[in-house]
Amino acid sequence: MIDFHTHTPAWHTGTWLGGAAFGAEEFLTYMDSAGIDVAVVLAHDGLFNATPESNDELAAFVRADPSRMAGFGTVNPRHVNAVDETKRCFAELGLAGLKLHPWLQGFSLHEAALDPICEVVVEAGGILLSHDGTPPYSTPAQIAALARRHPRLPVVLGHGGLHDCWREALAVTCETENLYLCLCGTPPYAARHILAHAPRGKVLFGTDAGLSDEASQDYAVARVAEIDGWGITAEQRADMLIRNPGALLAGRLG
Ligand SMILES: [Zn+2]
Repeated sequence: MIDFHTHTPAWHTGTWLGGAAFGAEEFLTYMDSAGIDVAVVLAHDGLFNATPESNDELAAFVRADPSRMAGFGTVNPRHVNAVDETKRCFAELGLAGLKLHPWLQGFSLHEAALDPICEVVVEAGGILLSHDGTPPYSTPAQIAALARRHPRLPVVLGHGGLHDCWREALAVTCETENLYLCLCGTPPYAARHILAHAPRGKVLFGTDAGLSDEASQDYAVARVAEIDGWGITAEQRADMLIRNPGALLAGRLG
């Protein structure tokens, strides 16, 4: 299966969520223990302090096995070098996508500075994943508006709207062709409803592994095991865990 939402450890920004220090080999061991073949590995330090060094460190982490880990770097769109750094993420570092966290990074997805950044991601054949589910910045409708301005850019709602915005996440995913929804921290009753009503090909799954205070990522392993209790069909499960993320990542793994 494919885990579409994991993080490196936060090497420099402390223990915001109690995160453990772990290496790439330990992370691959987590993946094996949870039955995960491939993981999308998102920035972590960079969400607090978007520096080129944070993208370098993320790229070095996924280089341990580029066939199993797809790295998504980050930039703060308000930084003057954000467009160049986005280019570097793809051309030099070989990353597969860009992760934005408008809530932590403190910007609105309606800001014009996002547009040249999105154009770079389109040109590089990358994917944009945004944190979502926490107003005022990071509502699914704001992310959908960005996706509609860039119809060739695959855009992923990183958390399926969480508790407060999952209905909105489902609605905008149904209405926006290039928008995808990752169930990650989304409550199980909402996940069930989303899987029953979202268009085929749109729903992904993620654990948020990397935020755990255990290097073994027990929280993430439990999230995978929990799927069995969701009451979803075998087809919905295979779409969410294998076919949909596989189609999005096709040609984007090392
Ligand atoms: Zn996350």
